[in-house]
Order: sequence, then C-alpha cells, then structure tokens
Amino acid sequence: MFESLTEKLNGVFNRLGNQGRLTERDVDSALREIRMALLEADVNFRVARSFVGKIRERALSEDVLQSLSPGQQVVKITNEEMTAILDGGENKVVPGPAAPSVILMIGLNGSGKTTTSAKLARHLKQAGQLPVLVAADLNRPAAIDQLQTLGRQIEVEVYEEGTSNPTTQVAREGVKRATDVGATWAIVDTAGRTQIDDDLMSELEEVKDAVSPVETLLVVDAMTGQDAVNAAKEFHERIGVTGLVLSKLDGDARGGAALSIVSVTGVPIKFIATGEGVDALEEFHPDRLASRILGMGDMLTLIEKTQEAYNEEEAAALERKMRQATFDLNDFLEQLEQVRRMGGIGQILDMVPGMPGLKGKMPSEDLTEKQLKRTEAIVFSMTPQERARPEIINGRRRRRIAQGSGTTPRDVNQLLNQFKRTRRMMRQMSSKRGMRDLMRMMG
Ligand code: GDP
Ligand code: MG
Repeated sequence: MFESLTEKLNGVFNRLGNQGRLTERDVDSALREIRMALLEADVNFRVARSFVGKIRERALSEDVLQSLSPGQQVVKITNEEMTAILDGGENKVVPGPAAPSVILMIGLNGSGKTTTSAKLARHLKQAGQLPVLVAADLNRPAAIDQLQTLGRQIEVEVYEEGTSNPTTQVAREGVKRATDVGATWAIVDTAGRTQIDDDLMSELEEVKDAVSPVETLLVVDAMTGQDAVNAAKEFHERIGVTGLVLSKLDGDARGGAALSIVSVTGVPIKFIATGEGVDALEEFHPDRLASRILGMGDMLTLIEKTQEAYNEEEAAALERKMRQATFDLNDFLEQLEQVRRMGGIGQILDMVPGMPGLKGKMPSEDLTEKQLKRTEAIVFSMTPQERARPEIINGRRRRRIAQGSGTTPRDVNQLLNQFKRTRRMMRQMSSKRGMRDLMRMMG
C-alpha cells in the first residue's frame, strides 16, 4: 500500500539522514522532491504546496538546523503535518439518538459499497451492536444476491424485497424491519453508476430523505487516484457526506488519494478497507496512515492485528519473549501459523517500521505457502530440546532433522539462520535503541 509514494519519500529522507548538519539548501532540495513525490502520487497541487510550505517553515527553524539529527526532525515534522491533513475530524461512526441509526452507503460502481456494507456490519456486530443490512441496490438482481451471501457469511440479517418496488420504499421498509427486530444499526446498500450522473444523484437524494441517515458514507476506490478525488467532491456537494471509506488500500494504491480527498472535501476518513474478505476493514487512524505513507511502518496496526489473531495472553507472552529474547523455534513455528492467519508475510512486513524500505531484501519476504510447509516439517522433526535451544543443533543433529523432514542439511541450516535473524530483529525491535538502529538500517 502506498508503495510508490513511500519509496520516493524514503529516498528523500535517506539522503537527508546521511548529511549530518543541514543547510537551507538541503532542506529546499528535499522539499522539492517531497513535492514532486506528492504530485506524482496524485496529491492535489494546492495541498502539496501548502503542505510543503508548512514543513519548510518548521524545518528551517534554528532548533531543527542546529540539532544533531536534523534529517530525522524533518521526517518528524513531515509526519506531523501529514497527520494534520489526514485528520479530517470525527473518525468513528456516531449513533443517532434513536435506534436504529441508519448508515447510507454510496459510491460509484465497483468502489466497494456492498462489500464494505458487510464489513461494517461485521465490525459493528463485533462491537456488540445489532446491525441489519438493507439491499437497496435495485439496478442488478445480482447485487441483492451478493449482499445476501455476505450476510449469511457474517450472520447478519439482510432485508430485501427484490427489484420491482421503488428504492425509497425498500430502504424505508428495511429500516422499519431493523426497528422491529430491535437492531441498533441499519446499513443501506445503494446502487452506483460507472460515472456520476443526475439520475443517480436524484435517487440517492430521495433515499436519503426517506431514511434520514445519521451517517452517509462514501466508499472510494483508492486505486482510482484523482478520479476518486473528483467523485468525492461531487458526491459531497450534492448528497452531503459524513464520512469516507477508502477501499482497496491493499492494492497498488496511489497514496495521494487519501490526502487529497480529505483536504478537498473536508470530510473525515472513517475506515480503510484492505482486502476482499469481510474482516478486511480497519478503523482509520490519521497518525498511523501518515507513518505508513512515510515509510515508518505501522507498529500500532500490527499490534492490533496480532491481538486479533492471538488471544491477549498469547500476545502478552510473545511480547515478554521478545523482550527477554527467549523466543525459540516453537514460538517461531507458532509465529508462522499466526502470519498465515493474519494474511501473509508481505502484509505484516509492510507494517513493521523500517520494513517497507527493507522489503525485498528480507529473506522472509518470499516465504510462500510451500516454504512455510517445509519450515514446519523441519521444525516438527526436531526434538523439544532442539526447538527450545537451537544452538545445540550440530552436524549430526542437522543430518537427522533433514532426513526426518525430507529436506537437506542445507535447508535446515538456512532455516536456522533465518530464525537467528528473526530473533535478532525482534530483540532490536523490542528496545528503544533497537528501533533507532532499525531506522538507521533503513537510511
Ligand atoms: P460496489 O459495486 O460498490 O457495491 O462494489 P463491491 O462491493 O461489489 O466491490 C467490487 C469489487 O471490489 C468486488 O470484487 C470486491 O470483492 C472488491 N473489493 C471491495 N473492497 C475491496 C478491498 O478493500 N480490497 C480489494 N482488493 N478488493 C475489494
Ligand atoms: Mg454493490
């Protein structure tokens, strides 16, 4: 996610970081590159200009230039300014005074409305709420099926009456059904168009009037860059949007969309969607996204994800192990399983500070399913003592393990080396100093 912008900014910061004391000229040439990187990433030029202006003003203060690590200070300032732009206001869905609170989902075709409706229902359900989904996209019968399938998957009721009645009626009846079953939320999925047109806008206006939503969420496909910005502007002017959901941030999305949309519409992002699965929805944290855009990783999201996959005890134990560096091959094996549950190593590495910059150089990046399996086989062929204390594994043991797992001693060796690297990295990450070292490794 945000790969290209991240890479470019990393390049700029790396050069700054290597220069020791900065001059005004250093700062200016870095800012020029930052502005270019932002523009290339689809950030609106006015946004880019004011953003760079603010950074310049702060970066050129005596405090920064005289400090021992001016490059890092500039990174910090950039991060803060980016967070400020991304922070468009209230970033949670806020219930109304009377249940059910209605959420109207709008957006262009294929932006992810239906999928996001289900993800949101699941999210609310997990928070102890009772949502009902309303199938008010009557353009295609398939849209109703899609919502029903998703509803079954997350065990949330889907209200539908086919495609023959007026949209406003379906929406109104859906909310009534939600009221009858004592639901706290009614999420109304609507039809999109390939492009914004008057018919669509009128229909949405009518539906909005019919159900008086507390939240009107616009789903925008982050992959569409500047188009997403234009669509957001038009939807907001006509319908009045209370929040944005940025979808498809798992793809090769151009990061500028997020910055631009928030600054052009003034509407806060409330969620980001990062995959096709019903669990791929995250609450939006401007500071985290800013860090992620700037390539500083996103430790907090990682920790949150980890906690979702592990139970809390497991997570606490792992953290303790990381700190005490007693992480052994049993843990390693467990880790691999968690990684699989969390959606693959690539996604995880993206979130670790320094990792976006290191990606590709890391041995674990191409840990495919097959390799995971082989790794498991190797560890399973070890004795409990060997797993707990891999340093006792000598040539003889190595040959035995290879034979047992149908691999070669070289494979076993490779795994052990990889394990050692992981352990070293964990030790580094778990100390403040290590964090600094990691940052240095990245530039
Ligand atoms: P709608 O036309 O706005 O209702 O869009 P859909 O919810 O039907 O989504 C269109 C396509 O995008 C579907 O194939 C979804 O699986 C996919 N999709 C939706 N959200 C995401 C996301 O966050 N990441 C990815 N990779 N795909 C998504
Ligand atoms: Mg749909």
